[in-house]
Amino acid sequence: NVANRRHVIAGNWKMFKTVKEAEDYAVKFLEDVKNVTDLDIILCAPFTALYALKNELEESVVHLGAQNMSWADQGAYTGEISAQMLLEAACTYVILGHSERREMFGETDEAIAKKVRKALEAGLTPILCVGENLSVREAGKAVAQVQGQVAKALEGISPEDLSRVVVAYEPIWAIGTGKTASSQDAQEMCAAIRFTLARFMGTASEKVPILYGGSVKADNIAELLSESDVDGALVGGASLDPQGFAKLIHNA
Ligand code: PGA
Repeated sequence: NVANRRHVIAGNWKMFKTVKEAEDYAVKFLEDVKNVTDLDIILCAPFTALYALKNELEESVVHLGAQNMSWADQGAYTGEISAQMLLEAACTYVILGHSERREMFGETDEAIAKKVRKALEAGLTPILCVGENLSVREAGKAVAQVQGQVAKALEGISPEDLSRVVVAYEPIWAIGTGKTASSQDAQEMCAAIRFTLARFMGTASEKVPILYGGSVKADNIAELLSESDVDGALVGGASLDPQGFAKLIHNA
């Protein structure tokens, strides 16, 4: 791409892997990716596996991320996990606003905006997820909706803080379905997202990594990344096997 953005490949394990499984994965995965330095690799693991992964991944090329976090600092918030807790477990990234959290756990744009702000304040890099469902796409309203999601999540954040955001475009109809968006559709939306980012941060939007997610695999990653505004991928199912995910990364 023209702005020389580094590519980012993030694995989203979702609610898979015990501590033991995570440790075994880390050993095998590191074996295969330890020499990869031309892109950023992130593993977003369940909360319970983070601390164990911190020990396995310390001083490696693999960065650690969580899949959600609270907008509060501490207090009476049963079941929540704070930014400080994630930092202590060596997380540098956190996925926020994943469609599964929006759809199944009622996360609103307002809550996601508070989380993005809190993550940036704490020094974590938010991976803000946005994306439309099939009926919105078929109604021709996908671009408007996704741009709206981005704008609502970033409202009121300083351009300086925004320079540390990562955005992931994940069309809901492509997640876990084996139905990847065409690279042209991914490009169109990622460019539309960058256009919205520019409203908030001017030309610094050229530096923001915008990822595509939804049935990304070892055999379609290269084509997606050939698009000028697609800077990486958020990978669910295909990140669960260490050798398979390493292969995807080598194809990127
Ligand atoms: P998938 O999930 O790669 O299994 O489609 C992507 C995601 O939800 O982040």
